[in-house]
Amino acid sequence: MLLMTCFVVVVHSTSLADPLFLWGLALEFVATVVALLITWTERNSRWATLLPITNILAIFLIREGAPQLSAGLLFVLPVIWMSRRNGIAGTIGSVVLIAVLIWTGAIFNDAPTSGLALVGLFLLPMTLAFVATATYFTARHSASQRILLQQQAQLVERAFARASSQERLRNEILNAVNFGVIALDRNGLLILMNDAHQKSLSEFDAPAGVIVHPVVYGPDRVTRLSNVERPLARAIAGESLDGEIIWIGEPGSRREAFSVSSRPLTGSDGRFDGQVVVVRDVTRELDAIKARDDLVASVSHDLRTPITSILGYLELVLEDDEIDEESRKMVGIAHRNSERLFALVSDLMHAASESDPKPAMTFLPYDLSYTVDEAVESQRPMMEGQGLQLNTDIETPVLCVIDPLRIRQVLDNLLTNAVKYNSEHGEIGVTLHDDGSTVRIAVSDTGLGISDDDQKQLFQRFFRTETARLSSVHGSGLGLNISAEIIKEHGGELVVSSVVGVGSTFEITLPSLRNPVPNILTESSGSTR
Ligand code: ADP
Repeated sequence: MLLMTCFVVVVHSTSLADPLFLWGLALEFVATVVALLITWTERNSRWATLLPITNILAIFLIREGAPQLSAGLLFVLPVIWMSRRNGIAGTIGSVVLIAVLIWTGAIFNDAPTSGLALVGLFLLPMTLAFVATATYFTARHSASQRILLQQQAQLVERAFARASSQERLRNEILNAVNFGVIALDRNGLLILMNDAHQKSLSEFDAPAGVIVHPVVYGPDRVTRLSNVERPLARAIAGESLDGEIIWIGEPGSRREAFSVSSRPLTGSDGRFDGQVVVVRDVTRELDAIKARDDLVASVSHDLRTPITSILGYLELVLEDDEIDEESRKMVGIAHRNSERLFALVSDLMHAASESDPKPAMTFLPYDLSYTVDEAVESQRPMMEGQGLQLNTDIETPVLCVIDPLRIRQVLDNLLTNAVKYNSEHGEIGVTLHDDGSTVRIAVSDTGLGISDDDQKQLFQRFFRTETARLSSVHGSGLGLNISAEIIKEHGGELVVSSVVGVGSTFEITLPSLRNPVPNILTESSGSTR
């Protein structure tokens, strides 16, 4: 409008004299000033529709005042404005208002009679209707796109907020635990390291930015590991580790043991995507195990000397021809038991030494039923004393190549356990069968039973179930470990099946000698018993 007015002043100043033209300009000027002065808010914004309407009226007055200017073209602006802003009502309303104004003006200024002039009167509203419709649909389209974009932006925002809160939670959890956690990407580059590992690194003076301890020793505490031998380096190379023990720190200075485990991470496509490494401080556990082994080793070592002496003196007594038969029998029993005590103490020493835990063996062909009978008979008084019922089903003879003393040791252990862990007035079953390929000895009881979890650890050294530990029944937790080891050395297996509260069955399987019968048996069958 301002530009147009400037042109008119320069080119056709007589138009300024026309009152309609001036009224039009004044109306436009007032509307613009009012629009600028008002502070538009949500509440008064609907009044803004009056602005394009005033604009239409102003353009109409200018057009009527100076028809040569073709100011009707300017109608396009309020039409676009209203179709964008007021939707369908604005679209139709703006065009109808302009058409009515034009036609009313035409009627007042002597209605045109020629056909062409009439077409001219319709052309402008038609053009404006087209512009209004196109603007309306474009506006609607962009409005729906804007809404879609807003919704998507909200979704992204929410997802981002969720991801950040999850990351915060993950970091808090990782930093709350007292073991080190390190995550590496598929190229071995660090993605994450928690506070516990960071702290452990700084305690051992690792330089900043490094994720491994400066000095790493193997489980024996003396072999220094090279860079490639270190568990973390192996994990970076893609190896899965399960509780690898390392010692950090130089000998003579402060040292800590860590158990390093690693698991590969897989991406959504199932491909290798890195490693997560868990570093747990196990210094106390290892120190406790070492202290226990040292104690067992020293106690069993100290016990061997007096037992050797007892054995020696008993042998001297047995060699004496002057002792009566009754005393010889009693000294003989004491001698046999001292021998067993000596064997047990030796086993204890073996168990405590990490180097050679295998028990020594002397194999010979033997009738197993004799050993089983003997073991059962030696436990019978104890079973009767506790009111336990004994059921036996012992096949005889059952020939096997065994170390009879060791098998007796195993049977004694299983039978004493069956007595120790039985219920009041419970039952004990002992069976021995040879099916031609396998010899089976089963010792069952109706006692406490052993849970599935405990069964998995039952044959580990020093393991005792919690029920056993809390009870008044004494034990070392070594018997089953040594028994399993002895049976393994015989080429057999010791297995357990148990139901808590019902009872347990320990079954020994050994290779049978019935098929084929080796020569050695026929040669020595007379002396096996
Ligand atoms: P110990 O009897 O000296 O503790 P063992 O190695 O013979 O050592 O047994 C290990 C543990 O297994 C026992 O402490 C006990 O918890 C459990 N156990 C062994 N035999 C039985 C059994 N017959 N019934 C229930 N628990 C048993």
